[in-house]
Amino acid sequence: MGLHYRDRELCLGEKNFYPLFPLAKVRHAPFYAYDLDAMLSRVQALKSAAPKNLKTHYAMKANAAEPILRLFQEEGLGVDVVSGGEVRKALKAGFSARNIIFSGVGKTREEIQLAVSSELGQINVESPQELERIAATAKALKKKTRIAFRMNPDVDPKTHPYITTGFRENKFGMDESFLPKLRALLREHKDHLNLVGITMHIGSQIRELAPFSAAIRKTLAVYQSFLDEGHAMESFDVGGGLGIPYQENHEIPSKEISLLQEYGAMISQELGGLKGNILCEPGRVFVASSGTLVGEVQYVKETPYKNFLISDMGIHHLIRPALYQAYHRILPLLDHPQRSIKQYDIVGPICESSDVLGKNRDLPEIFAGEFLAVADAGAYGFTMASQYNEHELPEQLFFRAGREVR
Ligand SMILES: *Cc1c(COP(=O)(O)O)cnc(C)c1O
Repeated sequence: MGLHYRDRELCLGEKNFYPLFPLAKVRHAPFYAYDLDAMLSRVQALKSAAPKNLKTHYAMKANAAEPILRLFQEEGLGVDVVSGGEVRKALKAGFSARNIIFSGVGKTREEIQLAVSSELGQINVESPQELERIAATAKALKKKTRIAFRMNPDVDPKTHPYITTGFRENKFGMDESFLPKLRALLREHKDHLNLVGITMHIGSQIRELAPFSAAIRKTLAVYQSFLDEGHAMESFDVGGGLGIPYQENHEIPSKEISLLQEYGAMISQELGGLKGNILCEPGRVFVASSGTLVGEVQYVKETPYKNFLISDMGIHHLIRPALYQAYHRILPLLDHPQRSIKQYDIVGPICESSDVLGKNRDLPEIFAGEFLAVADAGAYGFTMASQYNEHELPEQLFFRAGREVR
């Protein structure tokens, strides 16, 4: 993964190593840097372990930067999108409409119009009310729209409560009590709705495979029942949700590679006999550890209670720690093993007490003007960044095969 010291300089990369200090030295604001080769290696690890009929749709909300979208598009992936803006961005990046899956619990009329008129590969339906809206739109546009039902299998993936989505207390998907209503709507609108699959997505940052297996088994029964009723079911979509080891120093080859291989094998085992395609929608696991956020320590503020490193990075760049108490390793760009260890809270410039990137971190003593890297910031980093307090969005740098690409 991501970050390694070579001759005491922190480098990004797995195959090629990109020293971060020379990049930081010439910039006066925080920036993200990404290793595209590492992202590709994760896509390929899944591909080689999964059955041939697995079609991967990258969840672009994890990181929608154009060079990343292009990389995955060229690798033959589709995308999973959750807004009209993402639909347009995916089409612009070269994904064919047929390779776009539209997920999301609150699709507006305009978004559904865009999806139906663009003839997307699949709209994942989250409620009977949404299905009625899709049917009315398809009728008005004289289309027959490809849809899949998002089931809520009611499994608890034991991740952070804010990132579970397939538990009965979540707003996402539908349980079996919705099926009679869905069947009635399918019959009523049979000229405009084409049920092509069943989909699920149980949460994010899940590092055990048992919840996926349990959810697949529960949901497969629904798939089978629609198949038995004569619907031309083309695919079973297992969603996304694989996690990465944020807490650990990463090794090469990374643990995500082995997790992806085990995930591919689990899919083979659970869905090996499926008639049709298997779809999946990973986001985080492909991109998280291949990205880092780099910034400068502006002030070192020592109080009788705490030592603060006040950096120019904050929750406006990376909101995950504030939003889900997420842990990201934080490392100085230059290692100084001779310095004594001190404990710091690494905070940002934002006028909120939640503007904390790391609490109680033991680091070699740090001085103002030195640079820090926040590890594993490639997913849900820049895409969740904001301009709160009128700050500018950070620059993003992309590296592939030893050099910077745009
Ligand atoms: C967010 C999301 C994903 C991707 O989740 P990761 O945890 O990043 O893999 C996949 N499918 C749907 C429907 C999503 O909302």
